[in-house]
This record gives sequence, structure tokens and C-alpha cells, in this order.
Amino acid sequence: MNVRFKTRISIYNTVAIAILIALVFMAVYWVVHATAYHQLDTGLEQESQVSIGNLMWKQDSIIINKMPEWQESEHTQVELNPIFLQVANIQGTIIFRTINLLNHSLPSKKNIVSPAYFNATLQGQHIRIGVFPIITETGRNIGTVTLGVSGEGTFLVLKNLRISLLLSFIILLVILYSVTSFAASGSIAPVHQLIKSASGIDDSNIETRMPLPPHKDEIYHLATTINELLDRVELSIRQQKQFTADASHELRTPLAAIRGLLEVLILRRHDIEYYETKIEEVIQQVDRLEHLIGQLMQLTKLESGTTVIRKEPIPLQQFVNRIKAKWDEQILSPGTVIRVNIPADAKVDADPFFLESIIDNLINNAVKYGKKNGTLRFDWVEHEHCLSLADDGPGISAEHLPRLFDRFYRVDPSRSSTVSGNGLGLSIVKKMTDLQKIRISVTSSEMSGTRFDLHFPV
Ligand code: ADP
Repeated sequence: MNVRFKTRISIYNTVAIAILIALVFMAVYWVVHATAYHQLDTGLEQESQVSIGNLMWKQDSIIINKMPEWQESEHTQVELNPIFLQVANIQGTIIFRTINLLNHSLPSKKNIVSPAYFNATLQGQHIRIGVFPIITETGRNIGTVTLGVSGEGTFLVLKNLRISLLLSFIILLVILYSVTSFAASGSIAPVHQLIKSASGIDDSNIETRMPLPPHKDEIYHLATTINELLDRVELSIRQQKQFTADASHELRTPLAAIRGLLEVLILRRHDIEYYETKIEEVIQQVDRLEHLIGQLMQLTKLESGTTVIRKEPIPLQQFVNRIKAKWDEQILSPGTVIRVNIPADAKVDADPFFLESIIDNLINNAVKYGKKNGTLRFDWVEHEHCLSLADDGPGISAEHLPRLFDRFYRVDPSRSSTVSGNGLGLSIVKKMTDLQKIRISVTSSEMSGTRFDLHFPV
């Protein structure tokens, strides 16, 4: 069932207060009820003492004398505050009753040892009955005196009290619900305001923020939290747009180059060497395109959240030496040297595939941007659990360092025609280190070379 929040608050509050009111009303009713009957019962008890005092008995037999008190109007007439009296022996046989009872008898009890009180009706009238045992001087129980007084007044008072309490309860419930409902509407109004503001936000006005209420309450925190979320969404949308724009730009550059080359070729006839050179250039641009698309796909996959990381203990010295051998053999020009300064017992927990990919990327950059015939150094700092790769190249000036791991960020784009690349390598490295909880940092300054540090989790 879809009950509105406002209605739910009103119902909860009303029920809670209604329970309290009901308890108070019940207590009031109980006190009035007990007091009223206590008064009647005290009267009956006093009357019983007089009545039992008027009786005489011989052994177990009760002797009824005509007592002047019993001729009084309260015992003879029914109209004015009558007191009904009835005497019974131990077998329960009625041996006397006052005139006002006419032919009726009072409901009573047999063989009781202490007074008993209860309500009954006599000729349609509510009466309060008190039954008292007749105990002789020797302590023998020889019968009962049953007294009845009109309980009509008490009954009426209690009945009216019940009706008034019930009516007041219902009226209070209605008032309570209206008041809590009104109060809930007031308290929920800022939430409605937030819903209204939030539902008006889309791509086109993502910079809009929730209005903050004046008091620093829960609504204020909710609005601030939504605003912070919007900040993140806005940043993510901007980055996404930037990424799409950068990717299109990077894709368009080699395509434009290919188109230019082909247009030159069809413009007029050339000799075969010319065709061969131009086709070589087209193939280079296609390679560049292929590399870029490969990197984009790799980045998308790493960001999709589906990448499975399989960590295992890696003997670092052996691992890095194997990568060095691969580079020495296949890629490095004879003048470039890789030095590995890692102790034999250095071990890290990492995914071997991704770790190799990270190291390959860093070596590739060090070679691309480092000194010709320079030296690359791998070092291991055991107490920091840190593997570093330093080159002796021209370095990167400080203002570029904070954005170095951003997608498509290149320190010197004008060099992009001479040094191949598209600014995606380090952002891919960053993704791969993040996935393995490896902290990567870069230290560099112009002319002092660049050092990348990989801090492995302990
Ligand atoms: P790419 O190499 O494709 O341009 P990267 O993300 O790998 O992209 O690198 C981003 C930029 O960081 C490079 O354009 C380069 O200017 C700079 N860079 C990276 N590594 C080094 C390094 N070892 N020495 C100097 N500059 C570097």
C-alpha cells in the first residue's frame, strides 16, 4: 500500500498520543469507579453492623425480633433511597426480608466468611448488594445478612463518564490527526521543495544546485549531500564529454592524414617509388589509428568494472629482469641501458599480467621521452614496499605533474608529430594500479629526469 510519508507521520503520531490519552482516560475512569463503589460498600458495611446488632440467636437459630428500625421508611418504601434487607440461615433459607422487597428476594451468597459485594438488578433497578456473614460470639457462622442499596446514581454517573470519555477520545483523535497532519505538511515542505528542484535537473542544467534551508538540520544535510552528488555527476559528465571530444579529435587526425595522402595520390600519376612512400605513410597512420582504438578499448574495459584481478606473490627481481630481457632483445636501441637494483628476496602481491603491462608502459615512456642512449634504473625500497623506475631524461616541469595521469593529457602536444602517442598511456597505467590498490606517484623536474614510484599494498 502506497501511503504518503506525511500521512504515515500523522498516523504514527496520532496512534502514539492516542494510546497515552486512552491510558489516562482509563485511569480516570478506574479511580471514579473505585471511589463510587467504595462509598456504597462502606455505607452497606455500616448498615450491616447495625442490622447484625439487631439480630439475636440461640445456638444456630437466628431469632428475628420486630425491630423499630426495620419499620423505618427506608426499609418499607421503594421510592426514597430504599435499603433492602434480607436475613438467611446457614442453609440459605430466607427467614426475614424487609417490606420494601415485596415478594422479591435479593440475590445472595451462602457460606461466606467475609463480606462480598456485587451489582445486581431488582425490578429493573441497578442495586449494589453487600452480603455479610453472621458470626456468633463463639465464632460460628450461622447465616447471612444481605443488604441492597440503589446503585442507580452511581451507575448513571459511571455511564455518563464512559460516554463522555469515549466521545472526548474520538474528538481528540480527529483534532490530533488534523494537527499532526498540518504539522507534518509543514515539516515535509522542504522535502517537496528538494524533489521539485531535483526533478528539474537534467544534462542541460546540471550546474543547478539545491537551495539550502536556513537551519542546519537533516534537510540541510540532505540538500548538501545531493549537491555533492551533483558535483560528482557534473564532473563525470564533463569528463565524459571531454573524453568523447578528445577521442574524436584523436581519431580524426590520422583519418585526415590518410585522406590527404590518398587525395595527393589520385590528383595525378606518379612513379612507383612515390606511391610506395605514400602508401608506407598511410600504413603508419593506420597503425596509429589501430593503436589508439586498442588503447580506447583497453581503457573502456578497465573502467567497466568487469576486470578480474588475480593477485599472486611475484619475485620482483626475476620478474623485472625478464621484462628487461624482452626490451633489450626486441626494442631498445643499443645505447640505452636498463639497470635493475632489486634484491633477490623482494616480493610483491600483484596480478602479473597487469604489472607487466604497467612496467612496459613506463619503460616505453622513459624511452620515448628520455635521453637518447640514456639509462633507466629500477630500484626497490623494502621498508616502503616501493618499486621505482627512474630515467635521466629532460624531466617534466612541475605544473604538468598534477594532470599527467589525465586522459589525453600530453605535456608538449607540439611534439606529438615527432613522438608518437596520444596521452592515454599513463591514464591506462593509473587504472591498472588503482585496480590492484597500488599507489603510483611521479617525481620530476626539468633536466633532472623522471621517477615513477609504485607503492604496493603491504
Ligand atoms: P603518450 O605517451 O601517449 O603521450 P602518456 O599518458 O603515456 O601518453 O604520457 C603523457 C605525457 O607525459 C606524455 O605526453 C609525456 O609528455 C609525459 N611523460 C610521460 N612519461 C615521461 C617521461 N618518462 N619523461 C618525460 N615525460 C614523460
